[in-house]
Amino acid sequence: MADPLTGIGVSPGVAAGPVARVAPPPQVPADLPAPADPAAETALATAALDGVADDLERRAAEVTGESAQILEAQVLMARDPALADLVAGRIAAGAAAPVAVAAAFAEFRALLAAAGPYMAERVTDLDDLSNRAVARLLDVPMPGIPDPGHPFVLVATDLAPADTVSLDAGRVLAIVTELGGATSHTAILAKSLGLPAVVACAGAAQLADGERVLVDADAGTVLRAPDDAAVSRATGEFAARRQRLARATGPGRTADGVPVQLLVNIGGGPELPAAAAADAEGVGLFRTEFLFLDRPEPPSAEEQEESYARVFEAFAGRKVVVRTLDAGADKPLRFVTVPDEPNPALGVRGLRTARRHPELLEDQLAAVAAAAARTGADVWVMAPMVSVAAEARAFARLAHAAGLPVAGVMVEVPAAALRARQVLAGCDFASLGTNDLAQYAFASDRLAGELADLLDPWQPGLLDLVGLTAGAGHDLGKQVGVCGEAAGDPLLAPVLVGLGVTSLSMAPVGLPAVRAALAAHTLAECRDLAEVALVADGAAEARAAVRAVAHRS
Ligand code: PEP
Ligand code: MG
Repeated sequence: MADPLTGIGVSPGVAAGPVARVAPPPQVPADLPAPADPAAETALATAALDGVADDLERRAAEVTGESAQILEAQVLMARDPALADLVAGRIAAGAAAPVAVAAAFAEFRALLAAAGPYMAERVTDLDDLSNRAVARLLDVPMPGIPDPGHPFVLVATDLAPADTVSLDAGRVLAIVTELGGATSHTAILAKSLGLPAVVACAGAAQLADGERVLVDADAGTVLRAPDDAAVSRATGEFAARRQRLARATGPGRTADGVPVQLLVNIGGGPELPAAAAADAEGVGLFRTEFLFLDRPEPPSAEEQEESYARVFEAFAGRKVVVRTLDAGADKPLRFVTVPDEPNPALGVRGLRTARRHPELLEDQLAAVAAAAARTGADVWVMAPMVSVAAEARAFARLAHAAGLPVAGVMVEVPAAALRARQVLAGCDFASLGTNDLAQYAFASDRLAGELADLLDPWQPGLLDLVGLTAGAGHDLGKQVGVCGEAAGDPLLAPVLVGLGVTSLSMAPVGLPAVRAALAAHTLAECRDLAEVALVADGAAEARAAVRAVAHRS
């Protein structure tokens, strides 16, 4: 057997199965000849548009609510006679059908974009329709999440947050992407669904549809054409490891009994029942923007309240930390994200979107408060991307006024960590979003797989920022947790606790190993491990130095 492909294992597990690739948008060849028979060419283009509309109609019939409405609106666009006229006109002028379809959609797109913000929101739908019709005409695979009709290993260049809407977790055995890092959305999605995932796997580009692979996400490897012995060895070892870790249960504690809350990260989607059943003390990060994704306008107050209440009921009697809308940059939303920002990660995102749309935040806080009042959960709220103390104070004031007594901030911007004392003085708690904190501290796009070494949460520079924030929390008697992906790393967890962090929030799959790692170290030992990591030269050195002295759990 050849050497396996390697990447970063970001969500534990082992699975084997056939590959199904996410096809990229089709490229229209520049040199297609003019059609000999324009009428026949127009008929081909019409058939392609009808085919796309029929597909979407079928999909619309399988879903309900907002998803069905979006698909039905796309069907109407695909069948729009004005679009058909534009296509026919282009073909009559000498364009081949794929060129005519792409150009007609581009023309339609420009018209819609100019017709005001509501219509501009439809532009992404048009791009999707155009790609589908062109893919039919060129007879290349349909872009988007594949549906081969059987369980498969999903292979993609990378996944976007909107892909999560169409991903059927029951069919996907594992995820492998060429790009992405430990903090990318692919990683977060895979963990929330409990699917094994390997990202930043450059060799994934070679994987072909239908070929069998063995994904070992614990080892960060993808083995091509594995024999049965390799599959059963890898699955057996994984099952044994999982069984060993499952022996420890209950609240998080160090070996000398110091409590460290173990919480889960959720998105309020299909993973909710499994997350609620997990052995956790509550939710440390409820990412509410997933309710807003892939829709033309914000969900109504009633819909928000219902959806939050569903989560609070599932966690009745436990703590739930709701993060208010974190739109922009890597999580664009059609109705709030500023188009064509030169640098979206540094633009109007997170809490900053409330500068332009204060009503969105106020409505959301009101819906959270109404849902909290109906249910028995201990609801906290926090704002994403807070940079300065004034923002923390203003957010806490707004949340308290809405009837939410515990209001905090995410520390994701280095300035907020450096001034944690002032930030925390104006609110009730902080939660370190180490994914974005690494991105901003190291000026490295969190989605850039090739910068994974800089984004590594083991970077001593990042750990310094964690220590500063946790220290301020300790002095002011306010809780400081970690809810970035770093919290789910069982080797890093005792280091974070040694730096002063009081809770760790992660995808449920990470809980058993983190619980076991904490139970294996006293608080004093956690502090020693933190010291070992802080004096290291870089991320790899810190990890290796801690691994050499940490107790095995
Ligand atoms: C983070 O940035 O660490 C975080 C938890 O938020 P998100 O990953 O949703 O940006
Ligand atoms: Mg973040």
